[in-house]
Amino acid sequence: MIEKVPMSAHEISAAIPHQLIDQFGRKVDYIRLSITDRCDFRCQYCMSEDMTFLPREEVLSLEECARLVKIFTNLGVSKVRITGGEPLVRKNALWLFEEIGKLENLKELVLTTNGSQLEKQAHALKSAGVKRINISLDSLNSERFKTITRTGELQKVLDGIQAAKLAGFENIKLNTVLMRGTNDDEALALVAFAMQEKIDISFIEEMPLGEVNHARESSFVSNADTLQLLQKHFSLVPSTHHSGGPARYWQVADSTTRVGFISPHSHNFCESCNRVRITCKGELYLCLGQEDKVELMPLLRTHPTDDKPIIDAILASMAIKPKGHDFDLRRAAPAVVRFMSHTGG
Ligand code: SAM
Ligand code: SF4
Repeated sequence: MIEKVPMSAHEISAAIPHQLIDQFGRKVDYIRLSITDRCDFRCQYCMSEDMTFLPREEVLSLEECARLVKIFTNLGVSKVRITGGEPLVRKNALWLFEEIGKLENLKELVLTTNGSQLEKQAHALKSAGVKRINISLDSLNSERFKTITRTGELQKVLDGIQAAKLAGFENIKLNTVLMRGTNDDEALALVAFAMQEKIDISFIEEMPLGEVNHARESSFVSNADTLQLLQKHFSLVPSTHHSGGPARYWQVADSTTRVGFISPHSHNFCESCNRVRITCKGELYLCLGQEDKVELMPLLRTHPTDDKPIIDAILASMAIKPKGHDFDLRRAAPAVVRFMSHTGG
């Protein structure tokens, strides 16, 4: 009698071609695609002041991005987040949103942006099928906003938020990174602003990604402290809301606003990780905080019409998705040397 050998998660994934299941049994149905490493801002925690950006030929073309997303949706991915760098500064980015918006198997096309281009593009993005927008906002004080982003103009972002509301986006969320001594005194004001605008807000703990000229350990603000502060001023009720991401939500009583906390340090969310990231160079990173990756660009370029080698590489990558990240702010070196703008936030 032939004895049955149990299949690994990767073998199961390969046997059921419409599913991506990693070695720990986690189903991957969400991709975050960075379509550019460039940005019109230079946020202190994200970039250094003098960044060198990739030459154009080393960045996936928009056609290659569209092809990759289609392949992933045929493998069971139902949610795609377009990010960067600043995705909306990429020329013709709208074409990509339109192409992805047409994909049959896709349930959710979402965007993370700094908001600077939204005034011009919000309406077209809505028509292309973008369902939700996350807009980064770390300060409501224009001078401070300029200091944090080094180049950004607060008013442009505020106008962008209004444009997104006018375009009919119902699910707008602010993303805020608090830094001690820089903007940690604005947590209350930012929540009050979100309430006034009837939008959500998430606080993201700073992660040690890339070498930045900025002391991360001393500027770190824990989400536990932010929650404690907010609870003194607002009535926050734990919410069961789940955005498909790692945030834990609280509902502000008598308001439509939810406050989310993304806490990679205090709350390790890796157990339920359902995502992988693709950089603008076509690197498929299996974890934001680890180096495990598969290079998809050479495959896309060597096989311009045959998707099989790309599908095989994606299926095989499930065997190397790590169990979790390993962030430690006390380490002198960053956890991973690549910037968030490279991997895509
Ligand atoms: N440019 C867009 C934006 O700012 O929303 C999209 C890309 S940005 C890299 C995505 C998100 O990552 C932003 O909300 C930003 O605040 C966050 N981010 C960047 N570097 C970070 C870091 N070191 N730790 C935590 N969040 C970071
Ligand atoms: Fe640009 Fe976004 Fe990074 Fe700020 S966080 S520098 S807006 S990519």
